[in-house]
Amino acid sequence: MSKETKFVDVIVPLAVPNLYTYRVPFELNDAVLVGQRVVVQFGKNRLYTAVVASVHDKAPLQYTAKYLHAVLDDQPIVNNIQITFWHWLADYYCCTIGEVMLAALPAALKLSSETRVLLNPDFTDKTQLSDEEYLIIDALEIQQVLSLQDISDILQKQTVYPHIKSLLQQKAVVLEEELKEKFKPKIKAFVSLNERYKNNTEEAFNLLSRAPKQADILLMFLQLVKENAHGRVDKLKLQEASNSNASNITALVEKNIFTLEEIEVGRFVFDPSKASSSPKLSNEQTRASEEIKQHFIDKQTVLLHGVTGSGKTEIYVHLMAEHIAKGGKCLYLVPEIALTTQLVGRLKSFFGDRVGVYHSKFNDNERVEIWQNTINENRYDIVIGARSALFLPFEKLDLIIIDEEHESSFKQYEPAPRYHARDAALMLAKMHECKVLLGSATPSIESYWNAKENHFGLVELFTRYSGVMLPEIFCADIQEEKKRKKMHSHFSSFLIEHIKQALENKEQIILFQNRRGYAPLWSCEDCSWVPQCHQCDVSLTYHKHSHLLSCHYCGYSEKPPITCKACGSSKLKMVGFGTEKIEEELAIFFPEVKIARMDLDTTRTKHAHANIIEQFENRDIDILVGTQMVTKGLDFNNVGLVGVLNADLMLSFPDFRAFERSYQLMAQVSGRAGRQQKRGKVVIQTYNPNHWVIQKVMYNDYAGLYQQEILERRNFKYPPFYRLISLTFKHKDRAVTDKAAHWFTQQLTEKLGKPRVLGPETPYISRIRNYYLKTALIKFERNASAKAVKQVLNEQMSLLSQHKEFKSVRVVVDVDVV
Ligand code: ADP
Ligand code: ZN
Ligand code: ZN
Repeated sequence: MSKETKFVDVIVPLAVPNLYTYRVPFELNDAVLVGQRVVVQFGKNRLYTAVVASVHDKAPLQYTAKYLHAVLDDQPIVNNIQITFWHWLADYYCCTIGEVMLAALPAALKLSSETRVLLNPDFTDKTQLSDEEYLIIDALEIQQVLSLQDISDILQKQTVYPHIKSLLQQKAVVLEEELKEKFKPKIKAFVSLNERYKNNTEEAFNLLSRAPKQADILLMFLQLVKENAHGRVDKLKLQEASNSNASNITALVEKNIFTLEEIEVGRFVFDPSKASSSPKLSNEQTRASEEIKQHFIDKQTVLLHGVTGSGKTEIYVHLMAEHIAKGGKCLYLVPEIALTTQLVGRLKSFFGDRVGVYHSKFNDNERVEIWQNTINENRYDIVIGARSALFLPFEKLDLIIIDEEHESSFKQYEPAPRYHARDAALMLAKMHECKVLLGSATPSIESYWNAKENHFGLVELFTRYSGVMLPEIFCADIQEEKKRKKMHSHFSSFLIEHIKQALENKEQIILFQNRRGYAPLWSCEDCSWVPQCHQCDVSLTYHKHSHLLSCHYCGYSEKPPITCKACGSSKLKMVGFGTEKIEEELAIFFPEVKIARMDLDTTRTKHAHANIIEQFENRDIDILVGTQMVTKGLDFNNVGLVGVLNADLMLSFPDFRAFERSYQLMAQVSGRAGRQQKRGKVVIQTYNPNHWVIQKVMYNDYAGLYQQEILERRNFKYPPFYRLISLTFKHKDRAVTDKAAHWFTQQLTEKLGKPRVLGPETPYISRIRNYYLKTALIKFERNASAKAVKQVLNEQMSLLSQHKEFKSVRVVVDVDVV
C-alpha cells in the first residue's frame, strides 16, 4: 500500500458546473482508477455515486477535500474516451458534465440514495405526537427501519414529508442514508453430474436402486445433457422433462450425484437455427458499396442517399461484415421508433448473438447487462440502438452507421444534454478514429449540404432493389371536391375510390395523418367552448378509448364535463381530426374491413408496436391508420396504396424546417407503397396541389427540393449557414419571466451584436405546468467562433443566477435546435 496522499476529481450526478475533489483514504490508494464509481458526500449528509475523472496529488485550493466513502467497482465502468466525450457534450450543448453523466449511465449504475428513517433510541415522550406521527413511531418500534415509501403506504398518504420533518424536529427519529445496488443479474440454475460419476454412471444408478423417481431423473438428465456442450442441464427443464419437482432434484444434490450451479445468463437469447448468410448485393448495391469504401479512404463521413427500397440495409450489413471480419466493432444507430423486431431480427439472422440491442423500452437490468457486455470487449461485434447507445463504454469503434439520419428524434429534447445523436456521433467517431456512414432516402438539408460542399462523401442510389418503380403519386384536390360536395367528411371521393380498388385487389393500405394540430377536442356545439388545462395554456385533448380529456404537456387528465362551463349547454361532443376519428369514420365507410391504428396511444407498452407490425405483416389488418410512426423504415410487401390525409397543415407549420419535414414525411410514407412486385399508388389530399413541395414529392425530386430550400436557408440566415441556440425563460410569475427575458436578451444583444439576438417572444404555448414562458433565439454565422458565443452566453447565465430579482428564473438552452 502506498502512503502518498492521493486525490480524485469526480463527476457528481448533479447540475453543478465543476468537478469536485475528494481525498482518497490510504487503504484505497491502490484501488482507485479513472472511470470507477465512488461514493461521495456532497452537500449536507447526501451521498452520491460519482465517477472518477482523474486521480492526482494536488489538494484543492478553495476547500478542504473530504474523504471519499467507498469505491464501488473493481474495474472502471467508464473509459477515457467516454470522459472526453462527456466533456465535449457538456461544452458544446451548454450543460454540466453531471447532466451528461446522468443521461449516459443506466439508472441502476447510478445507485439510488433512498432516504430511510430510524427510531431515535433516546426518544421517550410520546405525548406530543399527532395521530400520524404516533402511527409512524408505532411502526418503527416493530420494524426498526422504514423508507419514506413504506411510511407513505402505512399512512395511505402521498405526502409524508411534513410528518417526518416534525418528527425530526422533535428528535423522535433519525435519517439513514442508504446506498443500494440496484442491478440484479438474471440467474438460472443448472444441474451437472458429479465428476466422480461422469465415466461411471452405473455406480450412480446403483446408489438409486431404491429411489426409482430419482433414477428416472438421472436417466432424463443423461439424455438431455447430450445436446449440451457444457455438460449442464437447465434445472427447470430437467424438472419439466422428468415430471419431477425441486425437492427430487435437491435429494440428488444431497447424495452428491448432481451438482447445482447458478449461472448468470444473458437476456437476449439467439436461436442459431435461424441464422442465414447475408444476401448477395445487386450490381447497383455493389457499386454504391465500392463508392462508399472509396470515399472512406480520405473522408471520415459518407452520406448514402438511396431512395426508399433501394436496399440500404443490405449495404450496411455488408460493410459491417467486412469490418467485423477484420476484428472491428460497429455501432448502428436508428431512431427509437425504427428499432422494430423487423430490423433487429434481420441483423440477428446475419450476425447471431454478436448483436447487442440498446434502447429506452428495455428495463434497467437489460441496459446494465448490455453496458457490462460492452466493457467485455469481445462480447458484441455490433450494437444496434437508439441515440443513447452512443454512451455505451466502447473501447474502440471502427464504424458508426446512422440510418434515417434526417430523423429529428435523434435530437434529445428534454432534459439536458439536448444533444443531436448524429452530430455527437461525428465527434465520437473522431475520438475513436472511425468511419461514419449516414443513410437516408430524404437526407437532412444540412447533411446534403455537407456532402455537396465535400465535407462528406456522397453516394446515391436512384433505383429500388427489386427494380419495381417508385410509386405513382396523385393529388386529391380538397378545395375542388368541397365545391362539388364530393368530400365524405375527411375523405375525398378520389381517395375512397382508390381504397376500394386496393381492397378489391387484396392489397393493404396505409393512411397517414400528421399528428400536429389534429388532436381531437371536446367542445360545446352551441358556443364552441373547449376545456383547457388549468396548468398549461392549451386545450385538453379527448381520448375516446379511455373517455378522458388530457393535457399533452403536463399529463393532467379529467373526465369530460357533461355541461358547457361557459353557456351551460349540454350539447358537448368530440370534434377534430385525430387518427382515432379517422379510424372510426373508416369503419363506417368500410364495415367489413379490418382497420388498426398506430400512434402514441396504441403503442405505449413494450410490445404493442411490434404486435401491430406483425399483424399487418400477417395481413390480419387491411388498413393501417397512423401518425409519423407509419412512415418509419417499415418494409411490407403488400401495400398497394398509401394515403396522406392532409398535407397542408404540415406545410404551414411555423418552423423553418416545415418544407423539409413535409417533404421527408410524404416521401417516406409514400415509400411504404408497392415494394416487392408491383408499383404502388399514393394519394395526397391537399387544398393546394400546386404547392412546390408537393410537386417535388410527386416527381420524387429530392435534388429539386434541396436546391430551392438551400437558397431560402441562405437568404433567411438559417442552418447550415447559421447556427441557432434557442433560449426559453421560465418562471411561475409572468411579470418576472417577462422582465428577466428582456433584461437577458438586451444584455446579450449588447455583447453579441444586434442581428444575432432575436426576441424575446411569447411562444405559441405560453404557459406549461404553471410556468410562464418566453423565448429568444441566438443566430450566428457558421464560421463565427461558437466557443466565443457560448462563453458570452454562459457568463450571462451566471449573471442571471446572481441577479437578486431574476435568480429563480430558469433558462433552458438548446444548441442546434431542430
Ligand atoms: P431501404 O432501407 O433502402 O428502404 P431495404 O434495405 O429495406 O431498403 O430493402 C428493401 C427490400 O429489398 C427489403 O425487402 C430487402 O430485404 C430487399 N433487398 C435489398 N437488397 C437485397 C439483396 N441484395 N438481396 C435480397 N433482397 C434484398
Ligand atoms: Zn357552450
Ligand atoms: Zn397541462
